[in-house]
Parts: sequence; structure tokens; C-alpha cells
Amino acid sequence: MRLCLWRQGFRYKINDKRLPGRPDIVLPKYRTVIFVHGCFWHGHKDCKYYTIPKTNTEFWLAKVARNQERDQEVWRKLEAKGWSVIIVWECQLKKANLEKTVDIVSAAIIRNGDVYHIAQEERKKAREEYRRERRERKEREQSLLEEVKSL
Ligand SMILES: [Zn+2]
Repeated sequence: MRLCLWRQGFRYKINDKRLPGRPDIVLPKYRTVIFVHGCFWHGHKDCKYYTIPKTNTEFWLAKVARNQERDQEVWRKLEAKGWSVIIVWECQLKKANLEKTVDIVSAAIIRNGDVYHIAQEERKKAREEYRRERRERKEREQSLLEEVKSL
């Protein structure tokens, strides 16, 4: 997966400890993180690799549910910081699916990057607009003051 993304020209960091959940792949330029999830441990719905054992069923169900809760918490934290989160399931990385998965993921990364940069551009414009208004207001106040003084 990483290798495929690298070959497509994406540059990333791995297992960034500073981010919630320590994402497997971090693409700062696209403000995107990727988690590769094991189908069993994270409970991939309707996946043949997610089969709860017949013994200790309650235990496994509770364990997977806890992992899923933790995942949700991590996503919320990352999204609150403006990161887009992509989940890739292990079964999607099997040889037969890899190419398709890489295509979908790289398209999503690029889309996230575009959205992020548009949002940044808008924030920048809003900041500039605010500064300009403030400057104009000050100038108006200044000229009013001058007028008052000259009376
Ligand atoms: Zn799966």
C-alpha cells in the first residue's frame, strides 16, 4: 500500500506519534491520514475475515466493540483538527483488490487535498478582508479626528 502510494508520487510520514491514534500513513500536504485496519480486530462489517469465534463469543464481541469505539474517538479528534481520515481494510489490500484500492485511495487523497487547500485559501481571503476593513475603519476614524481638530 505505502509503496504503491509512494510510486504514485505521494509523500508521507508513518506512525506519527503526535497525532491521535498514531495513523499508519500521514500525508501532511493533503491533510489526510490513513489507517489500515485488521478486519477482525476492528470489526469489518460483512467481511469474511470478520467472524466471531464460536467460543467466548461475548468476550470477542465486547473486544471488537471497544476497538470500534476507540476508532470513532480517534476519528473525531483528527477531524476536529482538520484531518481527513481514510480507512483501508486489510482485505482490500489482498493481491486481487490492491490495485483498485490504491486507485480509490489516491483519488480520495487528492480530493481531500483540494478541499483542504480551498478551505485554506478561503480562510486566507477572509483574514485579508478583515485586515483591510480594520485598516479602512482606522483611516476613517483618523480623518474624522483630523476634521474635529480643525474645527
Ligand atoms: Zn475486510
